Amino acid sequence: MPATTPVVYPIPVGADNYVWLMETAAGDAVIFDPGDFAPVADVLQRSRLNLTHILITHHHHDHTDGVTALARHFGARVIGHARDAGRLPPLDLAVGDGDAIPLGPLNCEVMATPGHTLGHVVYRIGDALFTGDTLFSLGCGRLFEGTAEMMWDSLRRLRALSGIGRVFPAHEYTLANLGFVLKLEPEREDLASLKWWVHEQIDQGKPTLPTTMERELQFNPFLRADDPDFVQRIGMTGNTAVAVFAHVRTMRNHH
Ligand SMILES: [Zn+2]
Repeated sequence: MPATTPVVYPIPVGADNYVWLMETAAGDAVIFDPGDFAPVADVLQRSRLNLTHILITHHHHDHTDGVTALARHFGARVIGHARDAGRLPPLDLAVGDGDAIPLGPLNCEVMATPGHTLGHVVYRIGDALFTGDTLFSLGCGRLFEGTAEMMWDSLRRLRALSGIGRVFPAHEYTLANLGFVLKLEPEREDLASLKWWVHEQIDQGKPTLPTTMERELQFNPFLRADDPDFVQRIGMTGNTAVAVFAHVRTMRNHH
């Protein structure tokens, strides 16, 4: 890996999606989950970056609606999970768990993270993890296709990665997720500074993302279903981690 950390920018799309743009080499860039054409094309044209690849985490339309038009317009190659090839825009490169993709001088690792959808993948480039709708800041994706067991297993794999600094989810859900965390663990005093910071970012119209793996390990309830202190606080002592995870996911659905 090069010594310099790749630069990543958010491009806001729709109500609360971010399309992440990463500069991979001088003048080259890749993007993740473009759910729209115009706002992304506009940024690329103004920045004069050469779009080499479009990476898709999963088949939902708010992550894919801009893919084909952007690929045609900029001559970019489209990358997605082979498992979901029939549900994704046409792929130039169909990948699977454990694959390594060269993106210019950078190496991108693919990890399958079933749960939100069965074919969801995340991408790791150096210290950066692009988590789509698997891991959010203070939250995780809803279980539309997979089971609680699958999602808990996926999140445990992400949690176990070493060297992850920045985490880039595809949605600005932090404020709503924070409200849920405050309800779950109202007595935690170490949430105060995070709460202040999140509100300040939102009030100023700034993204709360990327988050960091360190922050998520500390505060994200979906990464702590096997943390005895957390489990005790929510009154689930004696249950399996999967049962705790499923319970918290259900509570969040109704929050
Ligand atoms: Zn989704």
